[in-house]
Amino acid sequence: MPMDYEIFAANGAMVGHGGLVVFDDTVDMARQARFAMEFCSIESCGKCTPCRIGAVRGVEVIDKIIAGIERDKNLIVLDDLCQTMTDGSLCAMGGLTPMPEQSAVKHFPEDFDRPPVAKAAE
Ligand code: SF4
Repeated sequence: MPMDYEIFAANGAMVGHGGLVVFDDTVDMARQARFAMEFCSIESCGKCTPCRIGAVRGVEVIDKIIAGIERDKNLIVLDDLCQTMTDGSLCAMGGLTPMPEQSAVKHFPEDFDRPPVAKAAE
């Protein structure tokens, strides 16, 4: 995809503030989604509830998905939570945090449907 504001916007992406993170094809996007949500939970200033509480709940929900606990239900909860953060957060920190999670679920669903690590080793 060319790096262009209009093309990014048309694909639900954004150029952001100048940083790019590149992964090879071995990356686990579910764990990267968790990382993005955890980053928000740490960096949140705490002024508004969707970001302050949402990011903490988001990490918990992604952990359940990764662990294989009621995956389908928790993917719906994660989507709901992301929508609440997008619509209800006061600034771009909480409002844009759901972008990597929702993008990862949309484009790399297989990474959210792996056997839990403990079971994979059996
Ligand atoms: S969205 Fe912005 S204002 Fe709200 S808690 Fe997060 S960092 Fe603070």
